[in-house]
Parts: sequence; C-alpha cells; structure tokens
Amino acid sequence: MGFLKANKARSLNDLTDEEVQGLVLQDLIAYFGPRAASVQRWVIQRWNREEYSRGCHFAFCPPNIMTVYGKSLADPVGNIYFAGTEVSDRWAGFLEGAIIAGHAAAEAAIKGLSLSGREEVEPKA
Ligand SMILES: Cc1cc2nc3c(=O)[nH]c(=O)nc-3n(C[C@H](O)[C@H](O)[C@H](O)COP(=O)(O)OP(=O)(O)OC[C@H]3O[C@@H](n4cnc5c(N)ncnc54)[C@H](O)[C@@H]3O)c2cc1C
Repeated sequence: MGFLKANKARSLNDLTDEEVQGLVLQDLIAYFGPRAASVQRWVIQRWNREEYSRGCHFAFCPPNIMTVYGKSLADPVGNIYFAGTEVSDRWAGFLEGAIIAGHAAAEAAIKGLSLSGREEVEPKA
C-alpha cells in the first residue's frame, strides 16, 4: 500500500487510473527493483474526490478550527455521545485518537445515562 500526498497527488488528479499505475510502477521499480513490476492487483482510491471526506484525515482542518471549535465536537447532544477520532483531545485524526475518543465517549455515556435516572442493565450471566 502506498500514499500519494498533497500537491503530488493533486497533480495526478486528471490522469486515468492506468496512467497513475504506470507512474507508480516506475517508482516501485526504482525503489525495490524489477520484481516490483509484477503487481497482482491495483486499487486506486482518490480520497480527495470522496464526497464527504474530500481528502485524507483532517483534510478540512485549517488553523484555528480545532483549537477554537474542537471541543464542541465532543459535547454530547442529549443522550447522543460522539466518539470519532476528531473529538479526541490527543491524536485526533489518527487511529489512536479514535480509540481514546471511544473510551472517553463510553465513560461519558455510562456516567451521563446513569445520572439521567436510567436504570442500569445488569449483563446476563
Ligand atoms: C487515506 C487515509 C489514510 C490514513 N492513514 C492513517 C495512518 O497511517 N495512521 C493513522 O493512525 N490513521 C490514519 N488515517 C486515519 C484513520 O483511518 C482514522 O483516524 C480512523 O479510522 C478514525 O476512526 P473512527 O472510528 O473515528 O472513524 P471511522 O473509521 O471513519 O469509522 C466510522 C464508521 O461509521 C460508519 N458510519 C458513518 N455514518 C454512519 C451512519 N449514519 N450509520 C452507521 N454507520 C455510519 C462508517 O461507515 C465507518 O465505518 C487515515 C485515513 C485515511 C482516509
């Protein structure tokens, strides 16, 4: 698996998948030698063209967005708790952030739902 990032990736936007494969193949051979030419399967994912993400992690995060508004992403709405990586106070945008945010949301939900008078359900033995 490999990533083409930022301006390099954008410069390939108008190329066909086959053209991108040709260029990537040249690089693979240059890095790893002629055996790298026998690629078994290609999957080209153009993240910057994904309707909702429009790029890789934190594609839409110019300066000040997280420092000014980041915390509000994590605020629960009623009994809905948010657990995505973006709400993490550490490693936001990465897998580690997703795990941290998941734990934090689970703890907040347990606490919040208990405080709101809901009955706790005991797991069945
Ligand atoms: C190209 C790319 C490369 C990356 N590389 C790295 C890397 O090298 N290292 C790293 O640490 N991180 C990397 N990341 C970031 C990492 O993948 C994310 O931070 C992490 O997956 C976020 O986890 P999450 O659980 O918050 O969200 P997600 O993994 O996005 O999970 C959200 C899930 O919710 C589902 N969903 C969405 N809407 C609904 C709905 N309405 N109902 C039900 N389900 C829904 C989605 O289908 C998805 O399965 C990369 C991301 C991208 C896009």
